[in-house]
Amino acid sequence: MLFSPFPTVRILSLIVSNLVISVAFAAPLRVVATTPQIAEAVRLVGGNEVEVKTLVAPGLDPHTYKATPSDVEALKMADVIFISGLHLEAQMERVLKAQGARKAVVIVSDGIPRSELLPDPEIKGQFDPHFWHDISLWRKAVDTVKTTLIKTRKADSKTFEANAMAYDKTLSELDADLGREIARIPRSSRVLVTTHDAFSYFARRYGFQVDNVQGVNTESEASVADVRRVSDFLVSRNVSAMFLESSTPARYAQAVIEAAAAKGKKVSLASELYADGPGEASGPAGTYERMMRLNTKTIVSALSGITASK
Ligand SMILES: [Zn+2]
Repeated sequence: MLFSPFPTVRILSLIVSNLVISVAFAAPLRVVATTPQIAEAVRLVGGNEVEVKTLVAPGLDPHTYKATPSDVEALKMADVIFISGLHLEAQMERVLKAQGARKAVVIVSDGIPRSELLPDPEIKGQFDPHFWHDISLWRKAVDTVKTTLIKTRKADSKTFEANAMAYDKTLSELDADLGREIARIPRSSRVLVTTHDAFSYFARRYGFQVDNVQGVNTESEASVADVRRVSDFLVSRNVSAMFLESSTPARYAQAVIEAAAAKGKKVSLASELYADGPGEASGPAGTYERMMRLNTKTIVSALSGITASK
């Protein structure tokens, strides 16, 4: 956990402020974040100076989530709103746009050069929204969180800078660790077949080939043709495992496995991968870092036959 390294400054401010306006220094910034990974980054960078509400709870699907009346209230009360962007929050865009007319709605993916994004294979002119699976891109999103907090509350800029630097170091080490783990899978076995196309950035970062049943957006239903295409791919590449994802139904994976079996290829179903963000806070993938480590461990175990060391 990272907290403000200058807690005494806050106390002094409060004593002095008794003579002026007592709330001026005390109130943390009210921040709303759409996804758990953004909320976590805001807490790590903002420390005690922020109070964060997450709209899409862990395990829910951000592609189809619709804002509730209490979400809309929180958005109205917020000092800053952070969203992921690239149409991840497809069903919330109208509500977010309405708030954007009145206050700062910051898209954390805006700090990523478009040349580093992958196209959405289904919708021409759009980008794949799952950029957080490439840690180098996630670090850029965290930088946008930092610069926004500094702009919003300049008095705490040193705290935000120090916290962001510490988190960036953690992320850089995480990226190197995952690269080392994945190096244990032979290149020819680096094939990632999932139910929903959330792992293209991960695949690009660590040298995997990908295929999927449902496409980038979980709003669309998988078709018979998708199931046939993916099962053909598994058979032709002699891949023995496919992966489930936390926010998509298992029936798609079962359909592919049955189709592959009919063609004489036994494919096992590996443990679930966390696609759209971390799981429950108390669970094994409860933070961004734990999600990335657990996904990597699951992939390394299924494709190399070796258990990852972390
Ligand atoms: Zn997704």
